[in-house]
Amino acid sequence: MGLSITHLGTGSRGNATLLSTESSHILVDQGFSGVQLEKRLSLLDVSPNDLEAIVITHHHGDHGGGALIAQKRWGVPVYANHRTSQELGLLPEFTHHFESLDVLQFSQGTSLLPVPVPHSGADNVAFVASHGGERTAIITDSWIWTDELVHHVHGCQHIAVEANYDSNRLLNGPYPRSLKDRISGRGGHLSNAQTGQFLKQVCTDQTRSITLTHLSEMNNAPHLAESTVLFEIDEMFEGDINISAQDGPHFSHFIGRRDGDGFATNAIQRIARELL
Ligand SMILES: [Zn+2]
Ligand SMILES: [Zn+2]
Repeated sequence: MGLSITHLGTGSRGNATLLSTESSHILVDQGFSGVQLEKRLSLLDVSPNDLEAIVITHHHGDHGGGALIAQKRWGVPVYANHRTSQELGLLPEFTHHFESLDVLQFSQGTSLLPVPVPHSGADNVAFVASHGGERTAIITDSWIWTDELVHHVHGCQHIAVEANYDSNRLLNGPYPRSLKDRISGRGGHLSNAQTGQFLKQVCTDQTRSITLTHLSEMNNAPHLAESTVLFEIDEMFEGDINISAQDGPHFSHFIGRRDGDGFATNAIQRIARELL
C-alpha cells in the first residue's frame, strides 16, 4: 500500500494537502471554506466525512481558517498545538493537542512528526509523514530553516516546500516598502533562492520528487520558482519537480510503494497516472 500526496491548493488564499492510503485520508491544513473543501475533495472522490484527521501547521487564516468549520459541520478531529488551537477557537471535544517532535500515529501505519518552523506571530510546524518505510515533508511559511528541520527533512523521498517570492519581482513590484520588508525579512516567507539553498541541504539520492508550494501570485511565477530552485540543486537532484498552484487538486507523489498501485481512490490514481 502507498500514501499519495495531493495538494488541494496552496497560496495566500488557502492551503490544504491530502495524504491518502487505500482506506484513510488525512488533511494537512484547512485554509478553505467548507464549500471549497467539499468541492475540491469531491474531485478526488473523497468527502469531508471520510477525513480521519486534519493536522494544522499554524493559525494563519490561509492554513487554519477552515478547521473550526470542519469540526462543526463534519465532526472531523483536528490536531494542533496549544497556541494554534487557542487562536483558532477550536472545539475541545474534537481537538487533539500535540507538542513539537511528538509522533502522531494514524491508521494504516501512517505517522506524522511535527517539527518547529520559525514564522512571525505563530507557533508554526512542518510535518514529516512516514508510511511504508518512506517519508514526505510538508514545509510552509518560514523565513529561515533550523538545523533541526534540516535533520528531519534530510533524505525524504518527497519534499513539498514553499517558494514564495522571486526577489527581483518583490523588489520591483507594486507592494509598499513596509510590506516588502515584512515578506522578505524576519518572520516572512522563503524566496525561490532560499528554497533552493534549503533543498540543497536536504535532498539526497533518496529524494525522488519536489513540489514547490505557496507561490505569490504577485511576486512569483512558476517558471521563475522552478528555474531558480533548479539552479541550486541541478547537479544533485534527478527526480521530478512540480508546482502546486492556488487552484487544485494537484497530485504530487506517492511514498511507500514504487509502482503506485493500490493506494487511495480511483480518482487520485487516475490523475496520478496522467502525471507520472
Ligand atoms: Zn503564515
Ligand atoms: Zn501561508
